Amino acid sequence: MILILEPNVDRSSESYAHLIKYLDSSDRVEYSMHDVQGAGQVLTEIYLIGNTAALSIHQMKSLPCVRRVVRVQDSYRILGRHGEDDLQTGFTYNGVEFSQDTLHVFAGLCAVDTPQHVEIMMSALRDLGQECTRMGAYKPRTNPYSFQGHGAECLPWVFDLAGKYGIKVIAMEVTHESHVEEINRALEQTGNPTGVMLQIGTRNTQNFELLKSVGRQKVHPVLFKRGFGITLDESLNAAEYLASEGNPNVIFALRGMKNQGGDPHRNMVDFTHVPVVKRLTRMPVCVDPSHSVGSRDHSPDSIMDVFHATAQGVIAGANMVLVDFHPAPAGALVDGPQALRMNELEWFLQDVAVSRDAYLKRRALAQKAHTS
Ligand code: PEP
Ligand code: MN
Repeated sequence: MILILEPNVDRSSESYAHLIKYLDSSDRVEYSMHDVQGAGQVLTEIYLIGNTAALSIHQMKSLPCVRRVVRVQDSYRILGRHGEDDLQTGFTYNGVEFSQDTLHVFAGLCAVDTPQHVEIMMSALRDLGQECTRMGAYKPRTNPYSFQGHGAECLPWVFDLAGKYGIKVIAMEVTHESHVEEINRALEQTGNPTGVMLQIGTRNTQNFELLKSVGRQKVHPVLFKRGFGITLDESLNAAEYLASEGNPNVIFALRGMKNQGGDPHRNMVDFTHVPVVKRLTRMPVCVDPSHSVGSRDHSPDSIMDVFHATAQGVIAGANMVLVDFHPAPAGALVDGPQALRMNELEWFLQDVAVSRDAYLKRRALAQKAHTS
């Protein structure tokens, strides 16, 4: 059960003390608090666990400071919507708001290679008004002899460059809990010039111990990739591990499914699940067209499949696009064949804006149809 409190609830008030006293006195129910930073207000939610079936919604709603009570199903207790359309979604991190209403493009290097390439990427992003990027330092590779990423060694200069170019959030995959410690150390050492969104890759979707450790840290949000060979329900349950350990600031990424039905694409593009994930959960939804499509092929209309796939995700309401770029794709150490080039960045952003505009128009049409 979730108790949603009045906005900006005063935690020093008598009525709040009353509520807490009541919860403390209930020996069969445990609770944890979570603040959701929305636009201009903080919404506090209290998650109740234990024998909540014995509690009546009516009774809980009559408690002081409680605005709303949601009875949750067993699956995705914290991240789920439980049939409620108007629950608060998202979070603000390092000054950037992420929700089911916003859209951010994270264009960047699949794998960090040289300071020159990172600088070219970040300065291009700054020039086009972008404040987010992707930079891989730890790369999980199929072949143990392939380049595994520069790891901790590159973090200080990547973070310094991010600060120099006004990048506020870097999506960066971690494959072990020690990587989170290394990231925190490097951020501290460089004076926190940027923020990091910790990425869980598709190969680790059900690495529950990794999920638990990343979920226990509440500083950085998490970009969680769906598993490429499991059901959506299994991936959503895995994402809940992060929230159940304390970190509900999770973005769910669709990145295609390993399935011969997707040939000749690297994976079967699964962006029709954008609205499904938004309906079932409160997570903002990301699409990763680069790893879904896996090439720079284009159709006779001169539009690359990566652009088409992005458009399909964005026009369906995606909240984030994770996309590989590289200043010299032929020499990229990872995933060069699918990388877009620097002179395609402006075009890509304009193409995304066209799809976003179409999505907003579609949403307005639907709202009009519902209210008439
Ligand atoms: C990546 O984003 O670089 C990546 C490895 O993605 P995935 O885990 O989806 O394969
Ligand atoms: Mn990649």
